[in-house]
Amino acid sequence: FNTAQFGQHILKNPLIVDKANLRPSDVVLEVGPGTGNLTVRILEKCKQCTAVEMDPRMAAELTKRVQGKPEQRKLNIIVGDFVKTDLPYFDVCISNTPYQISSPIVFKLLSQRPIFRVAILMFQREFAMRLVARPGDSLWNRLSVNVQLYAKVDHIMKVGRNNFRPPPLVESSVVRIVPLDPPPPVAFAEFDGLTRIAFSRKNKVIRANFQAKGVEQMLEANYKALCAQQEKMIPDDFDVGKLLDQVLTESGFAESRASKMDVDDFLKLLTCFHKHGMHFA
Ligand code: SAM
Repeated sequence: FNTAQFGQHILKNPLIVDKANLRPSDVVLEVGPGTGNLTVRILEKCKQCTAVEMDPRMAAELTKRVQGKPEQRKLNIIVGDFVKTDLPYFDVCISNTPYQISSPIVFKLLSQRPIFRVAILMFQREFAMRLVARPGDSLWNRLSVNVQLYAKVDHIMKVGRNNFRPPPLVESSVVRIVPLDPPPPVAFAEFDGLTRIAFSRKNKVIRANFQAKGVEQMLEANYKALCAQQEKMIPDDFDVGKLLDQVLTESGFAESRASKMDVDDFLKLLTCFHKHGMHFA
């Protein structure tokens, strides 16, 4: 057991809780409560809180901290790995996150239904800046576009290393994530499959990235699988290269670069692929 393994950096000041503007009726989810510095402040302001903590020693300490207090009945501690835990309903998520699972936390929250209202999350500065990056920014990448497909993300404050005990090696930032409701009607695996290819070299044109090894084979296999599933004949003159070329040209994005494309551009490109029976997952 060591602090590095669990990313245990305790916040000296629980002020990030206030950024959530909790309502007395709110059901809150906290990832990694540790000794409970944020948890006790959350409990003052909400109806119910579930805290998922992987380190049993920390969970025990938190249990002790609320024992016999009126807040005790509001708190439900789940001891386990957040990534593998089935989540209960929640309105708001608050977390000084363990940085080693930053991406899994974000995508797990965004895939949760019903959709939550807001998440206030502490991340490593660089990760936070990728979440809020815009097309054309140097940090704009596949993470940025995949998250912004589902949510509006804002940077709300910088937090220096010395606000933690022990101080982590990196600077931190708090972001606010507000999921789009309703969510866009697109399968994440499809969108992610497209952005994976488009961002493989984000400053190269889309057409060039689709020429990478394995891409045509994947599209051809998916095309044929879909034909089989829909009991459709594969055209005699089917040529994946030609069809790919046609789709890219028709979409208008063949000569675009992922580094400059926004969520809508990727959605339009994906729609064009789907229209021609081409799928990424
Ligand atoms: N919330 C406390 C605070 O702000 O003072 C502690 C935050 S500390 C950065 C991260 C916490 O997440 C630690 O308590 C750690 O044990 C826990 N943790 C690490 N990996 C986890 C995982 N996969 N699932 C749940 N909790 C985890």
